[in-house]
Amino acid sequence: MPLLIKDIDISKVSQGMRQYLDFKLAHMDKIVFFRLGDFYEMFFDDAVTASKVLDLTLTGKDCGLSERAPMCGVPFHACDFYIKKLIENGYNVVICEQTEDPAQAKGIVKRDIIRIVTPGTLTDTSMLDEGSNNWLCSVYIENQEASLIFADMSTGEAHLYTESGKDFEQGIIDQLSRFMPSEIIVQPRFELLETAVKFIKNKLHCGFSKLQDKEFDPEYRREDILAQFSADNTSDIGISSAGGMCAAAALCGYIKDTQRVGIGRFSKVEVHDGEQIMELGYTARTNLEIMKTIRGDSKKGTLLWVIDRTKTAMGRRLLKSWLDKPLVSPYRIIQRLDAVEELISSGSGLPVLCDILSGVYDLERLMTKVLYKTAQPNDLRALSSTALIIPHIKDRLSEFKTQLLNDLNSKISPLEDIANLIESAISEDSSDGGMIKPGFNEELDYLKNIRANGEGIISQIVERERERTGIRNLKVGYNRVFGYYIEVTRSFYDLVPQDYIRKQTLANCERFVTEELKKTEEQILGAEEKISALETKIFSEIRDFVGSRLNEVQRTASALAAVDVLCSYASVAVSNNYVKPEIAIDGIINIRNGRHPVVELTLEDEVFVPNDAYLDLSSNRMAIITGPNMSGKSTFMRQVALITLMAQIGSFVPADYAKISVVDQIFTRVGASDDLSSGQSTFMVEMSEVAEIVRRATKNSLVILDEVGRGTSTVDGISIARSVAEYIADPKIIGCKTLFATHYHELISMEGEVPGVLNYSVAVKKSGGSVRFLRKIVRGGADESYGIEVAKLAGLPKKLVDRAKEIMSGMNTEKPEQVSDNEQITFDRIGESEAIARLKKTNIDELSDAELRELIEDIISNI
Ligand code: ADP
Repeated sequence: MPLLIKDIDISKVSQGMRQYLDFKLAHMDKIVFFRLGDFYEMFFDDAVTASKVLDLTLTGKDCGLSERAPMCGVPFHACDFYIKKLIENGYNVVICEQTEDPAQAKGIVKRDIIRIVTPGTLTDTSMLDEGSNNWLCSVYIENQEASLIFADMSTGEAHLYTESGKDFEQGIIDQLSRFMPSEIIVQPRFELLETAVKFIKNKLHCGFSKLQDKEFDPEYRREDILAQFSADNTSDIGISSAGGMCAAAALCGYIKDTQRVGIGRFSKVEVHDGEQIMELGYTARTNLEIMKTIRGDSKKGTLLWVIDRTKTAMGRRLLKSWLDKPLVSPYRIIQRLDAVEELISSGSGLPVLCDILSGVYDLERLMTKVLYKTAQPNDLRALSSTALIIPHIKDRLSEFKTQLLNDLNSKISPLEDIANLIESAISEDSSDGGMIKPGFNEELDYLKNIRANGEGIISQIVERERERTGIRNLKVGYNRVFGYYIEVTRSFYDLVPQDYIRKQTLANCERFVTEELKKTEEQILGAEEKISALETKIFSEIRDFVGSRLNEVQRTASALAAVDVLCSYASVAVSNNYVKPEIAIDGIINIRNGRHPVVELTLEDEVFVPNDAYLDLSSNRMAIITGPNMSGKSTFMRQVALITLMAQIGSFVPADYAKISVVDQIFTRVGASDDLSSGQSTFMVEMSEVAEIVRRATKNSLVILDEVGRGTSTVDGISIARSVAEYIADPKIIGCKTLFATHYHELISMEGEVPGVLNYSVAVKKSGGSVRFLRKIVRGGADESYGIEVAKLAGLPKKLVDRAKEIMSGMNTEKPEQVSDNEQITFDRIGESEAIARLKKTNIDELSDAELRELIEDIISNI
């Protein structure tokens, strides 16, 4: 058993290990990286954990005890890789650095914690996904009100949401599922919100820390708030609510404690009080596969995968944010749509703009490096190369007329001064050791000249001295004792001027120095050091200048990101043949020849069959869709939801025509999303999802129900399915637009009985004993479930399928016996059952219309 901290007598460990333990004991829940020479070492418990997670060899180190301390380490220059891996595995890492030069240290080298790396406070681009935000969320709750701040330290964005009322816990879950933060900090009392805690632990798998109550006190964290926002007053950061300030206090304090610096990365908190956006719960986001597939967790196969043609990392992040927050304001949606339309109709204007945008670097994250003073010359060059192409982007944008493109253009600053400064100052290539270009700073040029031409300058002095003194053979020499000296032979002694300082007399000559020679010598010998100090100083000044333009760069960055997303919408619309949806508020969704944006691109053997959809708030509220499994019901329903969502993020849509009335929420209940991780049965999950829908849906919502009531007995299932459908269809309760797929044929009878309900089914073509799905949604309920045919399509053995048919036909002939014994079968009913039997035997596909008509007339006359 390796030695663990709990087993050791701390008073007996060596002094060096004592220093380690002092840091470690204060951070028992984190992994401490302890700098020793060129390595970060881990000891005891951390070594045991890290050796497993990072696949490192566990060795040992003498620690003053009889047993060695378990130890493993990583080279300091490769530490990012290991830190990232630990963070991904749910650990926070404390970096404990040497704070004095070990060569100068007396006794044990001084060390201190320079940073605590946690998932939500990462700023290092090598550890972040460039196309995603990295949100740290601070939640403050009091009296059924939650204030949530989502902040991304790597981009400087911060958003405040307030959730209140009896549903505030659900509100918290909704916001968390929208932002998917990588770390959440809460008060101890958050533990009482059991559903939210369960959601965080089971679904988000993110960092989750409880901080003490005092951390949420704005007075206690006042200095940190001011520092993180570079504000003079806490009222300047944009928050007016008391709860919001408490959340901000914990956020700023946490950043300070982990980063150990107070850097004004944030300019303001964007407050989203009563903001109008479409609500999309965790379930809908997951089921509609907007950013991740249900199985596999990948981007391929998602809506994002289809519509992301962004050229910049900032655009990629903004696209995700737009997908997270579909709009409900027709005005704002139309603004985006108009812009996309104009970009498309600009012909070559669009590809040119896209091409220029590909040269735009991640201004937001570059600014973070600038502010954290980790920006290198190449980072500043990236900033200036972006700044240099901004005028071209502005030129292009100025050709457009739509309001949104104009507004965005006016927010983009040409950043000329930044570009000019960096271009004139920072070398393209610093491989020769110089970051600063020649000609930028006189003193630096002078020093560099001395460094390069030291010998030459000395020879110039000698030349001049020969002329001045007339000593023809005056020469210069160098030794370690005097440095540079002038040597004069005996015969010229009388010509030695007054200002020569004698240093040494030899047999035939004397050696002198002069003021000038000494000064030049100092410059030559000190040039290297001075150059490096001066370059660093100039570079820092330039970096600070760029940093002082934070707000302007940030505003430019957001506008460029929006232009990028609009261009991406336009490019996708062109290549996938989308149309501009008509945005309405009359409650009608009317889609002609709509397609599923993802399925249409992933089908390999089939061509995608487009479908119409019509839903309104009166007689077409609820479509009950029956049809065999695998016939395309769920694809159709998701496609309606996705087209609606796409329209509301301002994108064109896959259809020949679409009129979309904005919806306030989209709900989905889709079969087979087993929730094994939270240990609930399929039926329980299904019912709790239905419960959430009926509790939250309003008349303006869009509800997709796929197979409700499946996870229980048939009778229960049918009863639940029907009552759910009736409840949702009832305009006095909800009455919203609903697509309801079911294999319970019994629900077909709702049409005519429940107002607003209409039957649809997927057309099927039968020929001989097999069926073919036509993928076309048509009016009317399905006549059979074709379960056996589907089983055959799925590849069950022929013998098995034949036997199933046999059993089924046995059941059919036994049917009359199900009629209870004491019920008299009337003549009428005998006629009816005969009629049904005849119909069943008939293969309608093989009869002409006239033959069909004859058959039906014959049947009727026999009843
Ligand atoms: P159901 O919900 O009825 O069980 P799905 O919607 O899951 O069926 O569809 C099954 C498969 O059929 C899909 O994976 C897709 O490959 C194909 N499909 C569905 N709709 C279409 C369509 N409109 N055009 C072409 N293929 C389709």
